[in-house]
Amino acid sequence: MQKETAMNIGIVGLGLIGGCLGLDLRALGHTVYGVARRQETCDQAVTRGVVDQAGTELARLKGCDVVIICTPIATILPMVAALAAVLSPGTLVTDVGSVKSALVTEATQCWPAFVGGHPMSGKSEAGLAAAEPGIFQQRPYVITPVEKTDPEAVKTLEQLATQLGSQVYHCTPAEHDSAVAWISHLPVMVSANLISAAMSEPNIEVLQLSQQLASSGFRDTSRVGGGNPELGLMMAQYNRDEVLRSLKQYQSAIATTIEQLEGKEWDAIARLLQKTHHGRIQFVKERQ
Ligand code: NAP
Repeated sequence: MQKETAMNIGIVGLGLIGGCLGLDLRALGHTVYGVARRQETCDQAVTRGVVDQAGTELARLKGCDVVIICTPIATILPMVAALAAVLSPGTLVTDVGSVKSALVTEATQCWPAFVGGHPMSGKSEAGLAAAEPGIFQQRPYVITPVEKTDPEAVKTLEQLATQLGSQVYHCTPAEHDSAVAWISHLPVMVSANLISAAMSEPNIEVLQLSQQLASSGFRDTSRVGGGNPELGLMMAQYNRDEVLRSLKQYQSAIATTIEQLEGKEWDAIARLLQKTHHGRIQFVKERQ
């Protein structure tokens, strides 16, 4: 990156996503200012090279070109309001929240240079200690402008996401929330219930044996249900309608499979598994 395109970038919330962003943005040549709740987190972020400097006061971000809010979903709107009191007009403010409809319009009313964003990359662990470089490469970065969003601010965020190696997608907040319900929020609920159902085995010997035998299949299907509980709860709370819609469709599909099993309708089950054998590839195809 050329020196003249290097920016001063603020990150509020130095957890997993804030930490990963800081590592990559610094490696790209940007200067990164961090804000965390606790001084201890600030010190760790500086020691780990996640930020150039950090502190607990938002005023530290006054001179930034871009501020990225990486705190839990419930804190994003209050954070936009708090930033509005300290930032210079025109500073691009964006967030990384996993839901968008509940945030973007209100945040844009509060700060005209706000652009909603969602880098679709993560890990099951939370916190700064789990941060690592390069997790956004070849992953989608969704940008969700609304009617009032400043096109120049969108362009700047698009450039940053491209520098991170992400593939940029644009859609409305509502389209984002419907799509992520299917591929992110529903899987968390399904996977959590899978683990919970397996844990409910009443025969202790069978339960212990299943825990000893669990291998790659269970590891894959249980991964998102065993992730950050706070994040999973906020996805359900802040994208409730779309999570309910997808979960009810899933419930109906499961009810059909139960009926088919009870009726020994092997052809119907074979057709389902043939359909999903081919259908899965459309969701998990390798990215160029
Ligand atoms: P995380 O690892 O738990 O980090 C959240 C950070 O925010 C923590 O460092 C926490 O500080 C800090 N924080 C909480 N409330 C704060 C406040 N009021 N002021 C300042 N800092 C505050 O969570 P995460 O996984 O990075 O998630 C952060 C955001 O990324 C969420 O909005 C989530 O929807 C989004 N996201 C997550 C993923 C994922 O897979 N994890 C993927 C894409 C987007 P303490 O250390 O003091 O608790």
